[in-house]
Amino acid sequence: MTDETIRKAQCSCGQFSVTVRGDPEWVNLCNCHDCQRRTGSAFQIAGFFRESQIIENTGERTEFHRPTQEGRTMDLEFCPVCGVSVLFRLKLRPGMMAIHAGCFADTGFPAPDRIWFAHRAHPWVVLPPGKNMTPAPD
Ligand SMILES: [Zn+2]
Ligand SMILES: [Zn+2]
Repeated sequence: MTDETIRKAQCSCGQFSVTVRGDPEWVNLCNCHDCQRRTGSAFQIAGFFRESQIIENTGERTEFHRPTQEGRTMDLEFCPVCGVSVLFRLKLRPGMMAIHAGCFADTGFPAPDRIWFAHRAHPWVVLPPGKNMTPAPD
């Protein structure tokens, strides 16, 4: 059963980790300029999990609260030692936490099924077809 899948995400140095049970409710790929800056990459990918799926959430973290275009906030948690951003929460989605897919280092992680800010994508990025494309978080 996929519901029994246990996955552990962690930062680069490993002191900040979060372990979850089951698949994410959805996986988001965001091309917005902020996600490009904060990941240092072309886009971010994050799995949205219910807080009740968390088995363990350990380690020191620093928080950064960023205002969003919609006037809410995005609350990021990153490792104060190695600087890797492991997860974030959106005021828009109470009871959920988004964990960056790369922190799982798991090629079996579900593919993105929600694409945000497709119009900001780098021209060489080929987005998965037939997905829920929205200009901003829905
Ligand atoms: Zn770290
Ligand atoms: Zn974004």
